[in-house]
Amino acid sequence: MNKNRYHLHEERLASTDDQGHRVYIHPEDVTGFWRTQRTKVYWFLILIYLVLPWINWDNKQIVLLNIPLREFTFFGTTFYAHDAPLILLVLLGFVFTMGFITSIWGRVWCGWACPQTVFIDTLFLKVEKLIEGKSRARQKLDSSPISFEKVYKKSLKWLAFTFISLVIAHSFLGYFVGARNLLQITLNGPSSHPSLFILSMIITGIILFDFGWFREQFCIIACPYGRFQSVMMDENSLVVAYDSARGEPRRGLNTDPSNPKEGDCINCYHCVKACPTGIDIRRGTQLECIACTNCIDACDTIMTKINKPKGLIRYDTENNLEGKESSRFGIRSGIYLFALITIFSLLAYNISKSGQLKITLIRGTGTPYRERILKNGQREITNLYKMRLDYKEEKALKIDFRLKKKENRSQVELISPARPFQLHSGRSKTSLIHFRFSPHFLKGGNRKIELQFYDIQKPNQIIITKEVNLVGPLH
Ligand code: SF4
Ligand code: SF4
Repeated sequence: MNKNRYHLHEERLASTDDQGHRVYIHPEDVTGFWRTQRTKVYWFLILIYLVLPWINWDNKQIVLLNIPLREFTFFGTTFYAHDAPLILLVLLGFVFTMGFITSIWGRVWCGWACPQTVFIDTLFLKVEKLIEGKSRARQKLDSSPISFEKVYKKSLKWLAFTFISLVIAHSFLGYFVGARNLLQITLNGPSSHPSLFILSMIITGIILFDFGWFREQFCIIACPYGRFQSVMMDENSLVVAYDSARGEPRRGLNTDPSNPKEGDCINCYHCVKACPTGIDIRRGTQLECIACTNCIDACDTIMTKINKPKGLIRYDTENNLEGKESSRFGIRSGIYLFALITIFSLLAYNISKSGQLKITLIRGTGTPYRERILKNGQREITNLYKMRLDYKEEKALKIDFRLKKKENRSQVELISPARPFQLHSGRSKTSLIHFRFSPHFLKGGNRKIELQFYDIQKPNQIIITKEVNLVGPLH
């Protein structure tokens, strides 16, 4: 039996012992080309994450996902509830972008951009190292009995983790509530917005649990992307891989007396010690590998020390490693790219089509209609709609609206305060519209009508027509 604790069991996760208990992984620090590049990318991403909610574009927060109002703003373009097909296109675009990137560069998302990796590596591991010391010191502290030093260091670490989690959680909420709005609410104290306070505490708790304690377990057992990324990859995808043709037979394992020559791997286990998921990349591509490149740098350091060329562990394709022809851009990548171009073309077309005046009509919350008995004994139904007008032209515009079908005009009363609407460039206006009508106007409990919006200077030129579905009782 191999006594080396880094020699992993064939059928067990590196992060569990033979009883199935969690083994806490303390990856060793590495230095090298990839480490330096990743540090730069991580800090850049963290900076974007923290700063983005504070930037305004067109008088709106650059990215704002206002769920209660069902308004989703991305870089000056706002999508509303009725833009669900466009939001679906954005989501599909994201999925196919991930597919395309994965098919060419493998799990580059996991190693270079996933919040799990970025925050743990850049903030949580750094704080842990600062307070508890390097990898071996941390392992020693974990296995030591309770002492003043242990309690002090662990308490200090979790206090720092809590502070970092609070900052991450509040920045996250800033994308939904608005950063400035959230700052004001926070300054007013928890009692001013108890539900938001509770939500922020829940998110902080989840971050603290995941980034502080759960860590690589999330990547190994919970991450859905980790599960289906293998479907997006093939033998031509770039992976972090060990060149077994060059490395084997590794030192001490050559059992062929007729040819005692050994490969370049000196079996030092540095690649395993540096791995944040605790795996041995020499066993081939594994689901647990998040392509963080730590093992590349760890092995390159060893290769430099023993005067061998770097790259025993490197970014490469499986085909290349097996000496086969490798093409980066295969059929799979082509399909993803085609889908991506189609989706983004559709998105661009739909956004440009929406023009300089955008009118959004959303049914008022609460009951879909109100019914009342008039003095003359007749019934009257009221539907309430919220209207939003977004205008971008330089020249001011005064608009009004009417029912498209003349025969409907005498049957449906439109009540909206502030008509006509004076619009100025870059400004939005909101208003309510009450539709009043007799239940006899409906057919089977509902009826679609159309509203025409026109410039009051040119009443015959219709700018936009919007459809509204009026509802009421079935009888
Ligand atoms: S095997 Fe290498 S690239 Fe994969 S997770 Fe471990 S250290 Fe990172
Ligand atoms: S770091 Fe390189 S030399 Fe050392 S065990 Fe890993 S692959 Fe072999």
